[in-house]
Amino acid sequence: MERKDLVAIWDKALERLSVEPSEATSYALRISAGTSGKGPLIAPTKFDQALLRSWLGGAERTLACYGPRGTRLFNVLNIDLFGGKVLTVGVEDIAPERAALLEEFMPTRIVGYPTFVLRVAEAMSAQARSGVVSLRLAGELLSETMEGAMQALFPNAELVMQYVTSEVGAVSRPSCGYLPRNTYHPADEVSVVIDSPDEAGVGEILVSKIMSGERIVEYHTGDLGRSYPCSCRCGETTALELRGRAGTDYLKLAGAVLRIEEFDRAISAYKDYVDDYRVEATTRVGKDGPSVGVVQLLLRWSGALPTSARKQEIANEIAGRLFVTPTRTLSQLVAEGLFDPLEVKFSSESLPGGYKTSKMRYLS
Ligand SMILES: [Zn+2]
Repeated sequence: MERKDLVAIWDKALERLSVEPSEATSYALRISAGTSGKGPLIAPTKFDQALLRSWLGGAERTLACYGPRGTRLFNVLNIDLFGGKVLTVGVEDIAPERAALLEEFMPTRIVGYPTFVLRVAEAMSAQARSGVVSLRLAGELLSETMEGAMQALFPNAELVMQYVTSEVGAVSRPSCGYLPRNTYHPADEVSVVIDSPDEAGVGEILVSKIMSGERIVEYHTGDLGRSYPCSCRCGETTALELRGRAGTDYLKLAGAVLRIEEFDRAISAYKDYVDDYRVEATTRVGKDGPSVGVVQLLLRWSGALPTSARKQEIANEIAGRLFVTPTRTLSQLVAEGLFDPLEVKFSSESLPGGYKTSKMRYLS
């Protein structure tokens, strides 16, 4: 099953919605197609009640930290289901003038994307952070430094991660605490197949499950991983290790998106010299806690290598052309301290493989 098959399934929900407006809150239009750009997706908001209950229920005050408006809408539509208060924030809310609101809200639990949660933490006082007893994270790989930062910033919080996708809901159970980072036990009702595994057993994760009465069959998640038998102390016998996105033409980090077509465009000024490139990105923890994006660009350069002054100039030119949000370039985010300056390396050798079908990879 591909994304278009899911769109077809939930299009049926749209027909039901049009004749039963009283059920309007049961459905959400996922306005953004995210970075896969395949058109809007209608999905039932209550498709995974157990998942929603574990994420939004049972806490006094939950702070939800997600960028996409669709995800935030989804949270808001379900607030009434589980009691407690939910405050959902976007990137635009992380501003000095909103700090008082976060301070006043005093969340007891924070849910969201790890890099976004770290950024929100920057806007919270130590006292507000110490009141958080539970962190629920999903949507991104967690690096060792990010995990360390979470523990330092939220000393009283239990950290639980889960593998969840916005298209098919929970794929894994919440982390049991015994497995390595980014490794999970599949959820009970989910069956997982690894598509075309390489020699290390890593391939695209395909998910089958029943959702809102619809059979989802081998849905292509776009995530890479490997599945292996284990005998976990929690009693589970299968582990699923996430390795990032398959064949990605984009990487999300530090509140920005690096897109392959943007690199193609920014580099095109040097097309007489550059016939191939690779992008490696990661996040590091900044001095005060928030994560900072780190991007390295490797160019295969034909002809004489530029002088070091010219290399620096080329790096600045590329960063100045490269849009990483709809309105801002990498240079602008570097100036704001959200990213380190772009590092560009030049090579006359052919470039390394191991990037699956893409030229980009995230180093966790
Ligand atoms: Zn376990």
